[in-house]
Amino acid sequence: SKPPPVVHYNLNNVTITHNPVENRENVLILTPMVRFYQEYWDNLMKLTYPHELITLGFILPKNKEGNAATTDLQKQIAKTQKSGPERDRFKSIIILRQDFEPPIPSQDEVERHKMQNQKARRAAMAKARNSLLFTTLGPSTSWVLWLDADIIETPPTLIQDLARHDKPLVAPNCFQRYYNEDTKSMDERPYDFNNWQDSPTAQDLASKMGPDDILLEGYKDMATYRALMAYMHKPEDDLHQEVPLDGVGGTALLVKADVHRDGAMFPAFPFYHLIETEGFAKMAKRLGWQATGLPNYKVYHYNE
Ligand code: GDP
Ligand code: MN
Repeated sequence: SKPPPVVHYNLNNVTITHNPVENRENVLILTPMVRFYQEYWDNLMKLTYPHELITLGFILPKNKEGNAATTDLQKQIAKTQKSGPERDRFKSIIILRQDFEPPIPSQDEVERHKMQNQKARRAAMAKARNSLLFTTLGPSTSWVLWLDADIIETPPTLIQDLARHDKPLVAPNCFQRYYNEDTKSMDERPYDFNNWQDSPTAQDLASKMGPDDILLEGYKDMATYRALMAYMHKPEDDLHQEVPLDGVGGTALLVKADVHRDGAMFPAFPFYHLIETEGFAKMAKRLGWQATGLPNYKVYHYNE
């Protein structure tokens, strides 16, 4: 029998433009997932970017929680890809199971946000993101959309809206809806504090740290005085206003695939005293790619 033919991909032909729909650009949506939320899936389904150009990639831990989430996820996938309308179907879907145990078992919001849990937790998240990225990024991928499994509400035009900025990395502002006991009504508050602009204080703290120490954001015991995008939201300003960022979160983040192809990933080790998504922004910057934030363009995180 004949050997299989060699497949040639010319990366110059894979465009990455501000008008990705017209140019038929492939988008890889990557989601690390420990819990399955129906609202996440419903929101994903409502994205108007042509589904036939979207590949979905998931990574779930191999524990009880991860097993349950995988079952729920597969049910929805079967419904969409087999019995659902053709236009809803995605190009392809990849599910990975993690080959390492999470360092700390399942946690609620309060427990996982404790400062002493952060380093091990963020390092494990970095490894999960890297495994997912390096096994799914293909020769025809133009964009990677990082979307956490607990992002339950975005504008349906999320991908087109972010891509139109034509930036190597672009992050919307992640908020959370909650019931405000004071006003007795639904309200919203900033959620993702990893989108920030660096400060002299943070630089100074970092310069005095040991080589294995990391800076964390959003903890009062470590006041960094960084400018957080979470607090830059101004309803009266343009929805598409841009700000430069030095650190990014992973809740929702659109990245040009070339940034990852250049080698920018999620350090599971202190990189300039930063890890995971914040380390990724720094690594991208060292490779010449600047992150951008959209303070007025909001997406919403689940409220446990
Ligand atoms: P937070 O919102 O910053 O507190 O972080 P989360 O705990 O929500 O984690 C971020 C994303 O990673 C979410 O999509 C989670 O479902 C997912 N996640 C959390 N822990 C793990 C893990 O151990 N393995 C994998 N594969 N995903 C995880
Ligand atoms: Mn989350």
